[in-house]
Order: sequence, then structure tokens, then C-alpha cells
Amino acid sequence: MDIQNELSKTFEGELDTSEEQREFYSHDASLFELKPQVIGFPKHVKDLKAAVQFVNRNRPAYPQLSITPRSRGTDMSGGAIGESIVLDVSKHMTNLIAVSSTEATVEPGMMYKDFEVETLKKGSLMPSYPASRDMASVGGMMSNNSGGEKSLEYGKTDNFVTELKMVLSDGNEYVVKPLNKTELVQKMSQGDFEGNLYKQTFELLEAHYDQIQAARPKVSKDSTGYHLWNVWNRETGIFDMTKMFVGAQGTLGLIAEGTVSLVPHRPHSGLLVLFLKDINQLGELIPAVLKHNPATFESFDDQTLWLSIKFMPSFLKMLGPKRFLHLLITLIPDGLQLLRGIPKLVLMVEFNGSTEQEVRNKVKALHKELGHMRVKYEINGFEETPTEGKSEKFWIMRRYSFQLLRSKVKDKHTAPFIDDFIVPPEHLAEFLPKLRVIIKKYKLFATIAGHMGDGNFHVIPLMKIEDPNERAKLEPCMKEVNNLVIGYGGSVSGEHNDGMVRGPWLEAMYGEQVLGYMKQVKNIFDPENIFNPHKKTDAKWDFSFSHIRKSF
Ligand SMILES: Cc1cc2nc3c(=O)[nH]c(=O)nc-3n(C[C@H](O)[C@H](O)[C@H](O)COP(=O)(O)OP(=O)(O)OC[C@H]3O[C@@H](n4cnc5c(N)ncnc54)[C@H](O)[C@@H]3O)c2cc1C
Repeated sequence: MDIQNELSKTFEGELDTSEEQREFYSHDASLFELKPQVIGFPKHVKDLKAAVQFVNRNRPAYPQLSITPRSRGTDMSGGAIGESIVLDVSKHMTNLIAVSSTEATVEPGMMYKDFEVETLKKGSLMPSYPASRDMASVGGMMSNNSGGEKSLEYGKTDNFVTELKMVLSDGNEYVVKPLNKTELVQKMSQGDFEGNLYKQTFELLEAHYDQIQAARPKVSKDSTGYHLWNVWNRETGIFDMTKMFVGAQGTLGLIAEGTVSLVPHRPHSGLLVLFLKDINQLGELIPAVLKHNPATFESFDDQTLWLSIKFMPSFLKMLGPKRFLHLLITLIPDGLQLLRGIPKLVLMVEFNGSTEQEVRNKVKALHKELGHMRVKYEINGFEETPTEGKSEKFWIMRRYSFQLLRSKVKDKHTAPFIDDFIVPPEHLAEFLPKLRVIIKKYKLFATIAGHMGDGNFHVIPLMKIEDPNERAKLEPCMKEVNNLVIGYGGSVSGEHNDGMVRGPWLEAMYGEQVLGYMKQVKNIFDPENIFNPHKKTDAKWDFSFSHIRKSF
């Protein structure tokens, strides 16, 4: 079938089957490649509906037809690639529909950075933005349940999504929002497609309530599986399916519009930067810092610091001359720090407030506590920088190091496969040295950066992935790291989601039964598996492994 020709009868946006575009869309920021047959650029929700209806009509004759939604394609798990129809919402579905100081309604393709400009005009913010804030879209954030530097204080995107407009597998559009028990009973009695979805999901969640509640990962952030434990709450009587669609990576339906709540932007911030030589100090340091309720508690390692300095000229391109010069000048003292001995970890503890004085007080209180520890634990260097200008260099290294690696290191490439695990922070002092042993065993060159306060780390090795010997390291290394993470009660993904890389690990995390409930939910919503196949509960390692990129 000529998909382009047939689909164009009902689809108003552009459809592209050129080799160049198919090649471009066969990648996201992950290790994998899947080449689509057609890329569609939906103009509006009608096009999303038309695409689903087209697939439903033609699937009996063409069972390979499926839809992978995509926005800015920065997904690191292989979630944004597919072999059939890819729908890129980031070209046309980019409108901000409404914004006030407390909430905003937005189409999925709007870039977060543009969205933030508009919310800041109202003095507000959606604080779950990822480190990829300059490249990612709000819809991508919803679909991955993204989080970032402010998630320690505010949680992730699922905390902010209050309503979704979804196109579901029957090709129609539905509003999804929290329902009370009366509204739920009413929905379930509709006797139509929507009513049956509610009925079947409710019955499943009610029948296995305790087991599902107990399966909730015991970490502060998680992006694995479907968050069934957050959908039905017997105590409040609230049934909220947005909790399941957020983080579903487009495997349950297509987001056409989302409403999010916003928090007041607190304009003042102060940052304490600690240069830590001995990782063993973390055991006492982390709880001491967390006691002060910082807004963010981030970290990056010595490799990141070295790379940032080594590839300094590349920042010029990324930041432009003015910000680059600023970075260069402010980095001089840190260059001197390095001469005195390289820290193993750089820790960034940030406080926010409505006034500068409020921030200064918070910074001082922690400074006082850690000042005492510094002597005891030899924390090298201590900086108090209550203006964003001075602290910018650290944020740049933290936020841009992965991008730098992606573009810079010759003949090796970033290989995100252990890029997002999270372990309860109280175990970090014990966990991190064990992690370093595994990294060394597999001779991986990797930077470690992450959200220290949550125990969420991004380890992104540089590898020559086209070399079979390097490729052969992936599975055993992933096995060792993931088992270590799960052994400490952690989750294999705090933010980046499952996609093709971690979907095969869901059974190890949740066990066969709870994974079975997640698969049942997928089956209720998408019985023909038309939405984003080979991801999350449908992912199998053999398939994923056979679709690792052959070239870069
Ligand atoms: C340098 C770098 C740093 C990163 N840092 C972070 C981080 O700190 N925190 C974090 O959470 N992530 C991070 N990521 C991963 C990624 O950038 C984020 O998850 C981001 O929110 C994805 O947005 P996107 O617009 O690129 O989505 P895409 O990559 O296009 O899509 C993401 C997923 O959402 C699905 N999807 C897209 N649109 C829709 C739709 N309309 N309906 C249903 N499903 C849809 C896709 O199928 C895919 O599964 C990082 C990535 C990079 C490259």
C-alpha cells in the first residue's frame, strides 16, 4: 500500500517519505535505530484522529501499521522512533492555548523554552523541566514524565498535569482528568468504548489494589512502567488516569493537548558548591544537606569537569560569545582548584527564595553546618554564590556536558544504556564505589552527573558502538548495574523512561504479576498494539539489541 497516498486523503498535514527524512527520523538521542515508512506532521487533533482511524481501517490487511508519536526527538530510551508511521507534533501542534499565573493549556509540540517565556510573563513556572530544557517539548516531558534539577523540591511532570486531551485507539478524542467516585461510576456505566476503558481499568486496579500499591518504587522519582498505583486511590476516592498517560511514552494513546498547573517563580537563588574528594563522605553529607530542604542538589564528576575544560571552545558555539566569555572568566578560580587536586565530585546545592535575604539565610545555615564538616571530612573548597550570574558556569557544565559529549569526542559516541538509575540517597555512599568498580571492569569511559538529592544518576559511557566487542559489553554491564540498583531498592529509570532500553527490565523491577497488570492495561487501551510498539511493556531485549545504531 502507498501509505502516503492513502493517508493523505484524510490527513491535512504534510506527509514525507523521502529517504533523507526517513533517515533523520530513524534516530532519537538513544542507542537505537528504527526507520519509519512515513513521517506525518499533524496540523491539529483532527490529523491525529485521522491517522489512528487510517491504521484501524488498514491494519487487517497490513498488520505492521503502527503510530509512533514524536515531538523534539531527544528521548534517550528509543521511545521516539518507530518502523511504520511517525507523527511529529513539533512542527504545527505548538500552540499555547491559555496561560494564567496558576495554569496553562498547551499543545504537545511547544518547546519548553518557549513555554517558559510565556509562563514567566505571569510570574510562574512549570518546574519539572529536564536538563534538555532548551531542546525538549512540553508534550515530550509529559510522555516521558520528565524531571530535572527542581524535581527534588517539586517532583516530576505527573505532579503538574491536571488534564489531557487524548486520541485513543478507537480514533476519537477524550478528555482525561481526575474523577470522584460518582463521576467514575457514571463513566463506567456509559456502555461505550470510553466507559469500558474506565470499567476494565477500575476493575483491574481494585482487584489487585494492595499488590499494586506495594509495587510503587521506593524512590523519590520514577519513570518506569505505568504508574497504576497513582490512578485509583481508595482513601480519597479519586480515579485519575492522567497519572497513567503521563510517562506512557505514547504507548496508550496520543496527547493532543495538556493542562498543567504552575508554581510561582521565585526569582532569587543561591548556590553552594562543594568539591568532594572522597565519595565516602557522601553518607553523612547527603542527609545533612537534605535536612535544609534545598531546591536542587545536583552533582557531576571529575570526568565531566575535565571534559568541560578540555572542550571549552565548543561551549563558544553552544552559548554564544557573551555567555562564553562570562563562563571563561568565572572558571578561572575553578581551574586553580583543579591544580590543587581534582575533586571526585562537584556538588551543587541551590536554595530559592522570594528575596535575596531569604536565600542568604538559607545558604548561610547550610554553610555553617557544612563548614564544621569540612574540617572533619576535608571537603575541598567552599563557595557562596547567591547570584545566578556567578553560579552559571556550574549549571552550564551540569546541563550541557552530555550534549558536549554527544558532539565532541572523536570516533566514540555517547551510549545511554545505564543513563538514569535512581537509588535511595542513603545508600549512595555504598552504591557509588560499587558502580565505579563495574564501570572500570567494562573499561568504560563515562561521566557521572545527576540529581544527588534524589540519588538519580546519569552515567553515559563513550563507546565505539559499531565495534562488536564494545557492543558485547552492553547486556552484561547493564545486567550488573541494574541488578545492583534493584538490589538497593532503586529503579532503573528516574526520568528518561523505558523505551527500548529499559522496557526489557520491567520484569526484574516489578515481577511477573505486576508487569502482567501493566500489560493488561496496555491491552485494554491498545488491544491491537498500534501505539508505539517495542517500547515499555512490549519491549524485548533481542529486538532492541538487533536495532542498535550501526553508524553515527
Ligand atoms: C542532553 C539531554 C539531556 C536530558 N536530560 C533529561 C533530564 O534531565 N530529565 C529528563 O526527564 N529527560 C532528559 N532527557 C530526555 C528527554 O530530553 C526528555 O525526556 C524530554 O522531555 C523529551 O522531550 P521531546 O520533546 O524531545 O520528546 P520526544 O523525544 O520526541 O518523545 C519522548 C517520548 O514521548 C512520546 N511522545 C511525544 N509526543 C507525544 C504525544 N503527542 N503523545 C504521546 N506521546 C508522545 C514519544 O513517543 C517518546 O516516547 C535528556 C535528553 C538529552 C538529549
